[in-house]
Amino acid sequence: MAAIRLRFWGVRGSVPCPGPKTVKCGGNTACLELRFGEAGRLVVIDAGTGIRELAAHILKTDLPKGPIKTQLFLTHTHWDHIMGFPFFVPIFIPTTELEVYGPVTYEDDTLDKIVGSMLSYRYWPVRLAELASKIKYFNLKEGSRDLGDGLWLTTKYLNHPILVLGYRFEYQGKVLCTAYDTEPFQNVFNVPADAPGYDAEAFKEGEAAAREENDKVRQFFQGADILVHDTQYTHKEYLAGKVGWGHTSFEEAVNAAGRAGVKRLLLFHHDPDRSDEELERLERRIRAQLAERGSPLQVFVAREGLEVEV
Ligand SMILES: [Zn+2]
Ligand SMILES: [Zn+2]
Repeated sequence: MAAIRLRFWGVRGSVPCPGPKTVKCGGNTACLELRFGEAGRLVVIDAGTGIRELAAHILKTDLPKGPIKTQLFLTHTHWDHIMGFPFFVPIFIPTTELEVYGPVTYEDDTLDKIVGSMLSYRYWPVRLAELASKIKYFNLKEGSRDLGDGLWLTTKYLNHPILVLGYRFEYQGKVLCTAYDTEPFQNVFNVPADAPGYDAEAFKEGEAAAREENDKVRQFFQGADILVHDTQYTHKEYLAGKVGWGHTSFEEAVNAAGRAGVKRLLLFHHDPDRSDEELERLERRIRAQLAERGSPLQVFVAREGLEVEV
């Protein structure tokens, strides 16, 4: 019996993109189902549009066994990661107990306000107050916490325009990590040496700070059995005006996973314009390059319905 099982219900970034070009990998936005141990304890990561199908699956497989008690971890509150929440049917069932965790960027914000603002008559005919289930919200910061039954969670701030958490779940000696909606930390004082206001000291400090943060991210997914990583762009696209948008290139994700001794890398948060054909081509190319280098890293394009276990 596997210690950790992962199933993808939504693999897309930014916006849902159904259509003939995305049929194989899927057009739903981020949603991951995790199952732990023999009991199959359920944990959900992100509530993109993929969560609607997950809800149907839970109703079929979990509800007959008893009330649904689960935890939903939001990496952050950008639309593509929360827009499926009103379609997560268990929230309308009175016996459901749901805990929602995630980071908030502004001190006076709370998750229930952010998620709840979607559930107002302006946008949707059901209001947060009308949800029949018991939902508790927890603002999450960087750190570690015991989730009970031997399941341990570590969180790490990543590099995105708002606060994003990477999640590292450890169970029975196995490790699954997520690091998406992120890009490598950059030197924030990186101006050309001949530019007005160039400060050599600040430049040096900026370099050191970026290196230190990137080291921390590497330690965060060091030795992971499974790493689900942002690969929204190719390196070429990234350099052509996407630096600072908060997403990583395929090349960088593969290198980062290799440096950290990751066993299996799942390429995730696909650009809505990326076709199945392109993704398959990129997968083949990356695998060939790794084989040439003799790297033991295994790489897979995340697609809806794909199951990975360890
Ligand atoms: Zn996103
Ligand atoms: Zn985002």
